[in-house]
Amino acid sequence: MVTEHFSAARDSAEKAYADRDRYREKMHAAYGSREVAVRRLRALSRLHEPLGNGVCLCKKRGCESLVILDTPWVRDMVSKLDAIEAQREAELRAVDPRDDWSIVAWDDGQVTSEGQTWIA
Ligand SMILES: [Zn+2]
Repeated sequence: MVTEHFSAARDSAEKAYADRDRYREKMHAAYGSREVAVRRLRALSRLHEPLGNGVCLCKKRGCESLVILDTPWVRDMVSKLDAIEAQREAELRAVDPRDDWSIVAWDDGQVTSEGQTWIA
């Protein structure tokens, strides 16, 4: 009797762990897909910016893309992505705090006879 209850409880716990892992994977996949979509929207927003007088950077007056890109959700998601990337970059620079790390890297670069640059 006790053994049956223990066995049922163990099976229930194992199922709960499996459900947790499955939903965690789905959640991470959903976040990944959203990030890809937000990156694409951000790339589009760089091509369609209002220049004034209803004209877009793409030179269209009344550009439909501007209407889509100028929604609060898109602006909020692009802003969050920019903040996340700025934080990641700050964390990376904190690990290697040289202010001029990219300049040093390019100064260390060598140009091959084919004109390709490689970092020493
Ligand atoms: Zn446009």
